Amino acid sequence: MNNLKINLEKIAATQGMHPYYDEEHKYEGAPLLCSACFRDEGLRLNAAKIGMKSDQPCPNCGAVDGRKLTKELTRQLCYQFFVRGTITKFDYGGFALVQMNEYRYQNSDIVVSPWLQDDVQLL
Ligand SMILES: [Zn+2]
Repeated sequence: MNNLKINLEKIAATQGMHPYYDEEHKYEGAPLLCSACFRDEGLRLNAAKIGMKSDQPCPNCGAVDGRKLTKELTRQLCYQFFVRGTITKFDYGGFALVQMNEYRYQNSDIVVSPWLQDDVQLL
């Protein structure tokens, strides 16, 4: 029974059931992006919801009024938007259609809508 518990935790961790961002330190570090960086409205709204207020210009787009995202907040945005946002449920169980993998940066397997392509390049 103990082995089953360990396997379930491992499966959950690799199948999008556990967030892979550091909740405790997500506001630490320099901002990388801001909510104004994104073209897709959903990404912009999610970034605005979790991002930090700051009067400093964004290092990517230069906007001062966008909510700023640290590395961990950017990971949180990816997790919430792409992983949790693509969970497909069936009668028995479900899974996330999209997973993020930082080791495959700029090497995506997914085909996204034209308005989302520039945003995916940023992330
Ligand atoms: Zn920006």
